[in-house]
Amino acid sequence: MTSASLENRASALNKQLESLDLAGRLALVAGLEGKAVFTTSLGIEDQVITAAIGSDKLGIEVSTLETGRLFNETVALIDETEETYGILIKRFYPEQDDIDAFAAKYGMNGFYDSVEARHACCGARKVKPLARALEGASFWITGLRRGQSGNRADTPFAEADLDRGLIKINPLADWDIETIRAHVAAKEIPVNPLHARGYPSIGCEPCTRAIKPGEPERAGRWWWENDEKRECGLHVPETAASAIPQSTPLASSLVR
Ligand code: SF4
Repeated sequence: MTSASLENRASALNKQLESLDLAGRLALVAGLEGKAVFTTSLGIEDQVITAAIGSDKLGIEVSTLETGRLFNETVALIDETEETYGILIKRFYPEQDDIDAFAAKYGMNGFYDSVEARHACCGARKVKPLARALEGASFWITGLRRGQSGNRADTPFAEADLDRGLIKINPLADWDIETIRAHVAAKEIPVNPLHARGYPSIGCEPCTRAIKPGEPERAGRWWWENDEKRECGLHVPETAASAIPQSTPLASSLVR
């Protein structure tokens, strides 16, 4: 599919999805020709999507990036979620060679020392495994929401990902956190216990802290960096990713 036709298709899908509820949005995507993959970080919004996929037995593959640096609570929630909904959550791990190369160059926790090193670590532990998780996919479903950060304020329901050659679907784009919490309570969806301890957004353990009252939802992610638009590279548009230093072997993977 050409870039123009991918963008046209995403635009048409965006309009279709707008008028549907969550179940309708996911059912629509599951019914389209082509593989659909949902990548979950086990965060509260992702649990809402996983519950909908599992409850309705939709033909959507559920995958997660097991970075090797996750909180124990997150790892335990993967198993609990599989048992609750009778689904398989496919784990995608980093390559040992990439971890070794990162550790040799920066040190195992070198991501604290520079943005370049942090992007290299995310490249090895997240971005490259994500590429494997999305192999052969036509649709990539995510839990992105407009309210998560200023960087995500314009998140559409469907958008062309030209670098990956697929359409990204964000079925919770218009949900706010209060709606998410009410839905989780009503449906008794299992969630990460860290949310109740001040972690609205949960990534790898060494790179996530609890937030203070009034702080933005993602303020606890890579808190030592000053850039308010900091991301791990999974959802970075090509224009933003092009600013990432290209001096490391793994940095180029961040633009995909
Ligand atoms: S969030 Fe932190 S530990 Fe996890 S991949 Fe990125 S830099 Fe590495």
